[in-house]
Amino acid sequence: MYKKNNMEVYPVMVPTSNKLASINFFLVKQANSLTLIDAGLNNDDCWNALQLTLKDHDYTLTDITGILLTHNHIDHIGLVNRIVSTHSIPVYAHPYAKLILKRDTQYMKMRIEFFRKLYQEMGCGEFGDKQVDDARNPIILRENKTIHCEIQEFTNNHLIGFDIFEIPGHTPDQVAFYNKECKWLFAGDLLMQHIPSNAMVEPNYDGTRTKSLVQQKQSLEKCLSLNSELVFSGHGSTIENPVDLLKERIKEIDEKANKYINIIQSGNSTASGIAQFVYKEKYEQQFFNTMSKVIGYLDYLELQGKITKEMEKGIWHYYCREWS
Ligand SMILES: [Zn+2]
Repeated sequence: MYKKNNMEVYPVMVPTSNKLASINFFLVKQANSLTLIDAGLNNDDCWNALQLTLKDHDYTLTDITGILLTHNHIDHIGLVNRIVSTHSIPVYAHPYAKLILKRDTQYMKMRIEFFRKLYQEMGCGEFGDKQVDDARNPIILRENKTIHCEIQEFTNNHLIGFDIFEIPGHTPDQVAFYNKECKWLFAGDLLMQHIPSNAMVEPNYDGTRTKSLVQQKQSLEKCLSLNSELVFSGHGSTIENPVDLLKERIKEIDEKANKYINIIQSGNSTASGIAQFVYKEKYEQQFFNTMSKVIGYLDYLELQGKITKEMEKGIWHYYCREWS
């Protein structure tokens, strides 16, 4: 438990066997509220862990007064339906998250077409097409992952003792909750102690593509500027004095970007070719992830003016800028 000023945080940390180490969500007690920040996965492990944490502090499920969501991923929203079905409480999320969590039909159609076109243009060919077809239900539509209750959009940048600000990159809808008095930051999946966060390439509202890694770096810089003392992370351990780690994650982005320049210089010109070169068999096993990483770095280098792209027969080819 963490206690400072009038705030108490009871982390719910559910260990996982994968590289995420744990799935974390948080009960936050303030004078007149018991807020849940994120809601784990929809499974018994998370459900039981939440019940146990409540019980440890002499609360029950019905004492929870509201839910704040950092982003739309299934390991952050899992228990919302189950909790809200026991008693009706407000659930808050970013407007982008709402589109996904409500499975807005138009938006979902746009999303599928977005990925289909993206992977074609990135040179993934039939393999990319097949990935989109296969992922239609589990990843892109996820119809069975709908949130049933009403979702309230954040309408201003302050709610239940927190400043709310956007930290896109991992997802376009990611937000952070910051308590200024405690200097405590709830940052979703922006920062993890043990692994760097993925910046997932996604469509914006209007179907344009996010420059996810560029956003990720800006979001890390934004958090660095807060000088927070504690970051409550979506996975892995809670991060004390996060300044050094934030600086390290920012530096890693530039170091890795430079490696991509070498790869492009050696003659790999399409995102698909680069992904296969860098990630080998992972390209097929973790297609969406590896493509997101590569496209993220290509966007980043392009914005810095270090590479340029040309479309040839419907496929983007990337080249290093010649310096004279
Ligand atoms: Zn996530």
